[in-house]
Amino acid sequence: MEATDKIWRNGELVDWADATVHLAAHGLHYGSGVFEGMRAYETPDGPAVFRLGDHLERFERSAKILHMELPYSRDELRTAILDVVAVNGLAECYVRPIAFHGYGDLGVVPGGSPLEVAVISFPWDAYLGREAQETGITLKISTWRRMGPNSIPHAAKATGIYLNSMLAALEARRGGYGEALLLTEDGFVADGPTVNIFAVRDGRLATPALSASILPGITRDTVLQVAAALGYETRERPLIRTDLYTADELFVTGTAAEITPVRAVDDVEVAAPGPVTATIQAEYDEIVHGRREQWSHFLDHAVGSARAV
Ligand code: PMP
Repeated sequence: MEATDKIWRNGELVDWADATVHLAAHGLHYGSGVFEGMRAYETPDGPAVFRLGDHLERFERSAKILHMELPYSRDELRTAILDVVAVNGLAECYVRPIAFHGYGDLGVVPGGSPLEVAVISFPWDAYLGREAQETGITLKISTWRRMGPNSIPHAAKATGIYLNSMLAALEARRGGYGEALLLTEDGFVADGPTVNIFAVRDGRLATPALSASILPGITRDTVLQVAAALGYETRERPLIRTDLYTADELFVTGTAAEITPVRAVDDVEVAAPGPVTATIQAEYDEIVHGRREQWSHFLDHAVGSARAV
């Protein structure tokens, strides 16, 4: 990754190189952290963070699920994020807030480990590749199952849960596929390691509901709203793997991956990018770059008149 100048850490801006943690930090041993991933995009009014308020709400919900009391308010975190984006001077960047149990004691119950909060920003191109956004990726249904709601809570964007994602993504890449797709223990389609999935059939969009062990993706929510505004019928409903094989179009959504078409699942080919995917991709690009007044409430500007969350 590419280093930037400053990281916000527990209330102050520190140099990138100084933002280190102790080897006995609780979060390192037990994955006891929550995080977010958002993007700042270049807009006519300077860099703006896309759906900052919604990401912070999810951050707070994730913390609540893990019984973490965040020592900073939403407004303080919002200011911290906009400050980091501004101070590092990048027109576009990825932003990674994280809260984790730090150095204190190593009992599994984290009572003696203070919460550390940080915000990192750095340049990060499309996670699944810029070219893949045009030509599509291949997906492989993982042999790993998505973590169920009563093992580790998938509704929280918690660090420890990403072992599930890491194993699935590694397996897919080692098998020569672009990305993995995980099923629930019951065999329904859930999501990918860092992306949600949409299937398009006869011009209608379908995506699994929260009950399918997905992370409630903010890009997913954006697509549901934007597609409806464009006149497409959208549904959150259970999907099985053959719904993917027989879809007219498939695409995945995520902050890092943005909107990436899928051109095959388990070697079954799907048209990519299909017309619906291309339309939504193009609209998303306009929205994040501040060229759609209708959706301007999704943008928080890093410099100048920042909106209230
Ligand atoms: N599912 C998982 C498991 C993820 O990690 C992510 C990335 N945060 C997503 C879906 C997509 O969520 P978002 O659109 O909010 O980035």
